[in-house]
Amino acid sequence: MCFRFKSKIIAISSVVEGPTAKAYAIEICKKFSNERIKGIFVRSRKVFAPVEEIVGRKFVKSDSIGKNILFFFDCHIVIRVHLMMYGVIHVYKADEPLLKPMDRVRLMLIGDSRKIVIYNAPIVEIGLRDQVLGRLKTELGPDPLSDEWDEERVYENITKFREEKIGIVLLNQSVIAGIGNILRNEILFRVGVNPERKVGDLSPEEIHKIIYYAKELSRQYLELKIQGKRIKDILRVYNRFSSICEICGHPIKFYRQKPINRKTFVCENCQR
Ligand SMILES: [Zn+2]
Repeated sequence: MCFRFKSKIIAISSVVEGPTAKAYAIEICKKFSNERIKGIFVRSRKVFAPVEEIVGRKFVKSDSIGKNILFFFDCHIVIRVHLMMYGVIHVYKADEPLLKPMDRVRLMLIGDSRKIVIYNAPIVEIGLRDQVLGRLKTELGPDPLSDEWDEERVYENITKFREEKIGIVLLNQSVIAGIGNILRNEILFRVGVNPERKVGDLSPEEIHKIIYYAKELSRQYLELKIQGKRIKDILRVYNRFSSICEICGHPIKFYRQKPINRKTFVCENCQR
């Protein structure tokens, strides 16, 4: 996944988690602010508002909610993009040729001096702002990178799933928005909790620590993204195949947690 500005390609990550979506939104704000939309191209089945109304409008800002990237204009229409694994956003000068073939383009917003092109994104939704935001608010839990982060609500959200494994609950976007596989592995390592533990078996202190690190690690992850650095600096277990735990020296175990089948890394000595 990468950003392309002028001739520079900035690597973002192979998987979009909340901090990656936020970093994209921040970059788009910088590179596309005050552009007036002269043309739009969209290839999506999720068009629920008259697209042509965006033409002639000003781009106001981009922001993220969880893993969703939103585009706001000075009208009642919003565009929501979810990049999942394969989506990429490029920003070009308005007259610059595209780097990838047109059949990969899901959305193109042409401004006065620049254009934003989104390739391969599985979700591009165009809808009425209040409806889209209202729905996201209902479907998603609090976002650690938002001003509306609400620890009490997150605590309630987690403890609703007493019978489920914490490693699985953390990926549920209705519990916390924006936590992906990297963050859930790193959070549970920091807290010393095994992903197989059931929520009902966790102490309140352990749950509070999980909530603390959900925010703290999201913040650190975003900071690295903004600085254009690799997130390796915060990875203490994720993708550490055949390495040893930096705390106790035990081997880090890799497996795929069932039934979600996601890559899971754990120090079974530190994470009980
Ligand atoms: Zn350890």
